[in-house]
Order: sequence, then C-alpha cells, then structure tokens
Amino acid sequence: MKKAIKTLNTFLTENNPESAGVKEKEAKASKEKAPKLILLSCPQSMRLLELRKEDIYSVESFGATVMTNEATLDYAVRRLNLPLLCVMGHEGCEALQRAVRAEQATDEEKALYEHIAAGFREKTKKEPQRTLEHIDAEVAAALARYGDLVKRGKLTVVGLYCDETGRLFLTNYNGLKGEEALSYSLPEVESCFFMA
Ligand SMILES: [Zn+2]
Repeated sequence: MKKAIKTLNTFLTENNPESAGVKEKEAKASKEKAPKLILLSCPQSMRLLELRKEDIYSVESFGATVMTNEATLDYAVRRLNLPLLCVMGHEGCEALQRAVRAEQATDEEKALYEHIAAGFREKTKKEPQRTLEHIDAEVAAALARYGDLVKRGKLTVVGLYCDETGRLFLTNYNGLKGEEALSYSLPEVESCFFMA
C-alpha cells in the first residue's frame, strides 16, 4: 500500500505545474492542438513508444481490441473526424498468450480471450505470426465498423506491429497486408517500415 501511495504521489507531483515547475508553454500548445491520429494499443506496449502525446487520441486496452472500446473509438472517428486509426499489436502480448491458455480469468477476461482467439487463423503458436493475425483481425473489425468512412476516403485504418524494443512496422493498410503488396501500394513509405 505504501508503495502505491508513493507512486501516486510522484505521478501527482510530476503533473502539477506548481510543484514540478513545468513547461507551461508546452502544456498550452498541446491544449490548442487537436490530435492527428487514433492509436488503439495495449498498455504493455505504450511504455515503449516515442510519441508526442498531443498528436494522439490514445485508446489503451489489454490486447488492443475494437471490442470493449466501441464508444471511445466511435467518438474519435465519427465526432472528432480523425482521419487515421492505428491498431497496434506488440511482441510478447500477454493478452494473446492468455487467449490461448489462461488458468484463472474473470468472466470479462474470458470473453475478451475468446474474441482474441477467434481471430487466430491457424492454431499455430508461432510468433510474430499470431500477433500479426490478431492485428489483421482487429483491423478487419475496425473496417467492418467504419467501412462507410473508409470507402469515402475519410478514414484510413492501419495495423502496426511494435517489437520489444519499441520499433514500429506497418503490417496492414485498409485490409491490405503482406510486405510485397504494401510496398507496391505505398511507394511513399520507406521499405524498412514493412516487416520482412
Ligand atoms: Zn499486450
């Protein structure tokens, strides 16, 4: 308990302009700027990323699923009209491991794991294949939900893979996948951003 209070205290201190002597300018600037993209990610992987918080409408959810986050995403996509939805999966995601085998889980966890497991095309446990299949399944779920906007060119849905060092790869673009297809269709994206 003491440890939790200490952590909380640090968190409050670091985010309080008076005690932290903070960069007021930055705070003001980020308030005025609208986010540029939606990032649906897993709390486990957010720690690894370099990011400008002001650019991102962040949706962090175990396993990074559209399911359980519909209202949060609907608001960003349909009310804020943000044009880019990134679905990010990551190396070593425990939600995916637990989707295959969880000895103890609440009913809500079980529902999530069943949903995730349904997205695995094969029973293979190979990585990163399983993670990529999960990302593809979640991109497909987003495309099913927001297909009207994608068709009209108002929204792009992409899949990203984050490795254990925080390096990002583009693995899916509006349902298009595979290094060859992606690099052919997106000549403006550097080839090092695709997963070989
Ligand atoms: Zn995860």
